[in-house]
This record gives sequence, structure tokens and C-alpha cells, in this order.
Amino acid sequence: MNPSDLLKTQNFFGTSEAALKKLFADWGVATYRVNQVFTWVYHYHCRDFNEMTNLSKSLRSQLAEHFHFSLPKIQNRTFSKDGSIKYLLEMNDGAVVESVWMPSDSRKTLCLSTQVGCRLNCSFCLTASLGLKRNLTAGEIIGQHIAINDELKEEDRITNVVFMGMGEPLDNYGPVVDALRIMVSPQAMKVSTRKVTVSTSGLVEKMKSFQEEDLPINLAISLNASDNATRDRLMPVNKKYPIEVLMDCLKKYPLKPHRRHTIEYVLLAGINDSDEDAQRLAKWLKGVPCKINLIPFNAFDSSEYRPPSEQRVLKFQNYLIEQNFSAFIRQNRATDILGACGQLATQSASGTLDPMSKVALVNK
Ligand code: SAH
Repeated sequence: MNPSDLLKTQNFFGTSEAALKKLFADWGVATYRVNQVFTWVYHYHCRDFNEMTNLSKSLRSQLAEHFHFSLPKIQNRTFSKDGSIKYLLEMNDGAVVESVWMPSDSRKTLCLSTQVGCRLNCSFCLTASLGLKRNLTAGEIIGQHIAINDELKEEDRITNVVFMGMGEPLDNYGPVVDALRIMVSPQAMKVSTRKVTVSTSGLVEKMKSFQEEDLPINLAISLNASDNATRDRLMPVNKKYPIEVLMDCLKKYPLKPHRRHTIEYVLLAGINDSDEDAQRLAKWLKGVPCKINLIPFNAFDSSEYRPPSEQRVLKFQNYLIEQNFSAFIRQNRATDILGACGQLATQSASGTLDPMSKVALVNK
């Protein structure tokens, strides 16, 4: 594909079912044809409209004039001792993001990015230092999944997806919702809604919009502190949406039966890991249907923070368990290849510092 074609036509990957239905209606084409096209692309992995033999020749050429197929390019792979693979993916404009593939038993989880950089400025997160370079498009978000799955062996194909890479998913709302719809649509990527988790720093207004989308996708909320003063320091977004506002939103969130929110809590030595923190956390979460993932901080050189000792982490967890919470300790994955939480910048092949996503949390 030459670059001028890319500008003239639209990437089919990321085009929503609704947008394609509208386009077909404008063209006077029956909307059930949308399902046929989606099936060719997402079930049969067909990337050439000419091969879609149950469509008329004129529709095939109309589609070919309107769309192209573009996926992120895999620029590099790094293999971790724990079996994870960190992929460096290059977008058409040269922007680079990272996705991490993590195997555990029968589950293969992909952690993907939603933005190049991030603007939320959490003080413990390395991505913050990059600022926000740009949002990813829906095609670039699902493209991470498709490009990586394309090269994996049948038994290694992605089963679960976590939106925990670089960026704040709800700060790139429209493209993330389009990407999620394509991901979970039976006509498209067919990922079960139970197997997708979107992690957010707690953008309450966007969480309210999200709950109205009729997309029963699990949310993970990065709480990370048990009092507003500490959370203000760690996550400036707390000044806009303090803990009580966030908790109120979670309590009112219409969850499907047997579903719970995930509360993420990054443990930072001497900052948010005391017995009092555990007690305050338990108080906040009373009445919130949730499980708690405790994540010992994944240290990096330029950070002032350190992870707590193992005993401290266990004591924190035990208190929550005594209070009848499901509380798990999540070890970072792929730490040896800078694929773990918050390690968002690494040396690219060209030797310059590139923005990299990070999180490698697996909800076992
Ligand atoms: N912006 C979203 C998603 C990306 S961050 C969010 O805030 O949830 C995903 C998770 O990684 C968050 O829970 C964040 O708190 C955590 N995280 C970021 N840097 C980390 C680090 N260095 N060590 C451990 N966890 C980290």
C-alpha cells in the first residue's frame, strides 16, 4: 500500500459496525451485508475485498475504493524468562506503543495500549514523564491484538485482553468504545465480554457514560491510596474526582449478576502500605462489589518510590482477607524485559527513547 492510498482511504480495522451500516445505507446496500464483510475480515482473516465472493463485484470494488487494511507493524519482540513477550508496535506515522502477551496455563492475556503516552501525570508511573503524544485510533487498538494473534501459534492465541498498557482508556473514550465493540461482537473478534478488562484511574464522568454503553465489560479501578491527601499526590486526577465521588459511582454502577469490579492498589513503601491504610481501604470498599488486586510497586531508577517488604504486603493482604474481601497479590510479569507496570520507556531499535506501555498484570 503506498502512503497516499492510506490518506485517501479509511482503515477497515476499527471501522465500527454502526459506521459501516450507515455507509451501506447511503450506498443503498442491504445492511445485512455488513455481517458478511465482518465475517470475511474477522473470522476468515480475509484482507482483500476481491476475495469476498458472496458480495457483488460492484460492492467489492466500492469497498476497495473506500477502505484499506492497515495493522501496526511489529518492530521488535522481547522474550521474558516467565514466558511473556513484549511487542514493540509501530503505527503508520511512526508512533510506537507496546503490548505484552502473557501466558498462564490455558489463559493467554494481551495487555494493550490506548494512547501514546498519557496526560494524567500519576507520580509513580513512568508513562507520565512522556506526556500525551496522541490518542490511538480504534483500528490501532484492535490492531495490536490482530497483528500479534496473526503470528502466534493456534494454541498461543490471545484469550483475554486487559486495557492496562500505556494511556488512560477512558481519556480516549470514543475509539476505545469502538475498539471494545469490535472486540466483543460475535460478528467480529468474538472475545467474551467476561474476558476483557478496562483499567481506569477513575474518570467518573466517563465511567458514567461507559455504564450506559450496553457494553458489560469489567472495569479495574486504580485506587492506589486510602485517603484523599495521599491520592491527590499520587494521582492528580483525584483532585477532580476524590475517593468519595469514585466510591459513590462504583456503588451505583449497574453490574451484571456475578460480576465485580477490580480495585487495583499499587503498594508503595511508607506511602500507602500501613495498617491504617488497610483499615481505611476496607472502610471505603464496604458495600462495593469488588475484588482487590495489590500490586507491589515496580521500581525504576528515576522513581522516588520503593516497593514494601514482602511481610508488609502479606500483612496488608491478610487484614483485607480478615475483613472478608477477596484480596490478591499481583506480581509483575515480564520484569526482566521492562514489560512490567510503569516501565514505559525503553530503548528502541534506533537507540532513542521510545514511549512504551507497560502493565503486565494477569488476573489469575
Ligand atoms: N491509566 C489506567 C491504565 C494504565 S495503568 C489506570 O490508571 O488504571 C495500569 C495499572 O498499572 C494501574 O493500576 C497503575 O496504578 C499501575 N501502575 C503504573 N505504574 C506502576 C508501577 N511502576 N508499579 C506498579 N503498578 C503500576
